[in-house]
Amino acid sequence: MSDLFSVADVSAARGPLRKMEIAPSDAETPAQYTLRAGEQRIGLNAHLGASLRLVHTGAIHCVHCGRATRKSFAQGYCYPCFKSLAQCDTCIVKPETCHYHAGTCREPAWGEQHCFQPHVVYLANSSGLKVGITRKTQLPTRWLDQGAIQALPILEVDNRLQSGLVETLFKQMVGDRTNWRAMLKGDVAPIDLPAERDRLLAALDQELAALKQRVGEQAIGTLAASPVELHYPILEFPGKVVSHNFDKSPEVSGRLMGLKGQYLIFDTGVINLRKFGGYEVEVAIE
Ligand SMILES: [Zn+2]
Repeated sequence: MSDLFSVADVSAARGPLRKMEIAPSDAETPAQYTLRAGEQRIGLNAHLGASLRLVHTGAIHCVHCGRATRKSFAQGYCYPCFKSLAQCDTCIVKPETCHYHAGTCREPAWGEQHCFQPHVVYLANSSGLKVGITRKTQLPTRWLDQGAIQALPILEVDNRLQSGLVETLFKQMVGDRTNWRAMLKGDVAPIDLPAERDRLLAALDQELAALKQRVGEQAIGTLAASPVELHYPILEFPGKVVSHNFDKSPEVSGRLMGLKGQYLIFDTGVINLRKFGGYEVEVAIE
C-alpha cells in the first residue's frame, strides 16, 4: 500500500495531535490538508462535508520528547522542554533578541542549523496586510499555517537575527498579527502587495540603508518576487466564529465545512489544532 493511498483511506485514528500538514495549492486546487495523530494520518480534503469527531482522551504528550505532561507549554511542549529547548526560547518569537553572539544560546548547534540560515521577510494578507519573517525553507508552509490568501517575499537576509531587525523596522508601519476571527470569516479583501512593498521600501529606505551599514551590505537583499495566491478547501465560512477548546470540552464534533490556516471549520464552531499539539485524541469520520 502506498503512502498516498493510506492517507486517503484512513477515517479513524488515535494519537497525540501534531500541526496539520498543508501542501501548497494553485488556482485550480485548494491546499491539501493532512491531520496527524501520532503516526496516523488522515487526508481531510476528501472528507469535507462529512461528520468529524475528535475526542481528547485527557493525555498530553510533549511534541518534542513524548513524555506525558499534565499541561502543555508553547503549543505542545512539556515544562522541562519548554525551559531548555532553543526552539521554545523567547528569541524565536522575537528574533531581534537573538543572543547567540553572547554565548547564551540554549542549544548552539540547533541555532546554527535553524537560525543561521537564509530568512525571508514577507508581506502577507491573512486578515489584512501584515509583515512576517521565516526561514526560507518554510515557505509556503508558513503562509498556509497562517491562513494567508496572498503573500509576497520582499527581502532575503542571512540569518534570523537580521530578519528580526528588518521586521522591527516594518512593524513601525504595518502589523505582524493575524486577526483569526476575520481570517476565518473569509471576507478578506485582496491587497495589491507589490504596491504595498514599494510604498514600505520607499518609506523605510533610510532606516534600511542604516541597518545594511551595520550588518553588511550583502546581508540584506531585495527580492524581485511575484505575489503568491493561496486557496483553501472551504464549503462555507462561519457566520459567527465560535471556538472549540479541548480544555473546556473534550469532544469536538460537527460537519467539516472547511480548512484554513491550522483551523478546522465545523458547522458547530472552529478549532485551532496547532494550539493543541500533543493532545491525544481519538478521531472518527462518518
Ligand atoms: Zn518534552
